[in-house]
Amino acid sequence: MTDRQVFLARLLLMLLALLAALPTRAQERGNQTELAIVGGMLVDGTGGAALHDAVVVIRGERIVAVGSKGTVPIPAGAKILNAGGMTVMPGLWDLHVHLMIMGHGKYGEYFPRYRNRMREIIPVSARELLLHGVTSARDLGAPLEEIIEVRDRINRGEIAGPRLFVSGPFLQKSFSQSDEYFRWAVQGASDARAKTRRLIDAKVDLIKVIQALAMSDEEFAAIIDEAHKAGLTVATHGKEEEEIRKVVRLGADTIEHTGYTVGGLPYSAEIIRLLIDEQTWVVPTCNVHWTSRVLRDFPGRRFDQEVAADYPPDVVKDMQESLSNVNTLRYWHRGPGYIESAPIRWRQMIQAKVRIAVGTDAGTPGNFHTDATWREVRLLVEHGMSPLEAIRAATKYPAMVMKKGNDLGTVEPGKLADVILVKGSVVENISNLQNVVHVIKGGTIYK
Ligand SMILES: [Zn+2]
Repeated sequence: MTDRQVFLARLLLMLLALLAALPTRAQERGNQTELAIVGGMLVDGTGGAALHDAVVVIRGERIVAVGSKGTVPIPAGAKILNAGGMTVMPGLWDLHVHLMIMGHGKYGEYFPRYRNRMREIIPVSARELLLHGVTSARDLGAPLEEIIEVRDRINRGEIAGPRLFVSGPFLQKSFSQSDEYFRWAVQGASDARAKTRRLIDAKVDLIKVIQALAMSDEEFAAIIDEAHKAGLTVATHGKEEEEIRKVVRLGADTIEHTGYTVGGLPYSAEIIRLLIDEQTWVVPTCNVHWTSRVLRDFPGRRFDQEVAADYPPDVVKDMQESLSNVNTLRYWHRGPGYIESAPIRWRQMIQAKVRIAVGTDAGTPGNFHTDATWREVRLLVEHGMSPLEAIRAATKYPAMVMKKGNDLGTVEPGKLADVILVKGSVVENISNLQNVVHVIKGGTIYK
């Protein structure tokens, strides 16, 4: 064959391949359901102003068009979701949950007692989060096999739950023996490195370290180094000034429970400067101890009927009993001023524009997966954020924290379609966030 003949033959083959591919693509498009959310007020998660009478078009698992009604064509044959009178917004994120716990007040009893029931409990917590609008969550401490299993079952579509980013067991220095199924002790830098490696090999999404002050710099740095080499982030507690200084200097990506400490009121200017200069993500988990106040004012909260209906009856009964006298719970005995002074530091960090993202410590005593996230968002608003800023802290920012900002966190064309519809305006009243009417994750309507 001449060169020209070879060229023509190749061209012909290419055209044939292209033709063969065409019907498949058309078929795919045909199978991809189209969904149009019409008529709601869009709060897109970027922090920008709300868009009234909006249209959001979803094809398959992605958002393909967003705009005002009349400017965005609604595809013929698309399923229409009427968003009249509702806020349309990105699915919420919660950067700090524990699916293995469900509000029980006494860990010393709970952890040994339910060790073999994690496969029953974890999926219930996951489902509760999703049905209350949380489409992505970071689980910061759980038994390794069980939490990975639930994450993967959710991803395969076998059970309902948020997209999970899991740390598996805590890495720390010491703990009681009954906790060994979800806590790993590190002894020395090479051990810290090896245990981090084991977690990475088990396919965790991030690493959780606690008790940083009890660790040597070498131990803490070894964990950070292994995690970062594998492209994973590290979450750690950052409460006292000394602890914040240490973990931020050694490269922690997010610090948790910030604001809750007995010393330093408010934080020193140096600490605030450090957080801003290092652009550290702060997850204050305002809910975690605040919940003791809520329960003190409303002890009947422990009989919440939705929570009671979701978990196994014996676990529910046990939880209710454990919360019958919140004033005596060991969990909340952190000394005077602990809860009273935290709001001063939250306000301080919000005013200083420290990078704050939403996490709740859901699952801790009385802190139910059904309402932790919207309560946390409300606490941020009560302490100085605007509703639009607080929504961004629960949507766009957490997606950035987990390096998923290209796919998740806002309602914009090209993003995965994690969208919730909430009755009323969340801008007028942030507590409306509790009235989640529809939950869409990856284009699938779960509620
Ligand atoms: Zn926690």
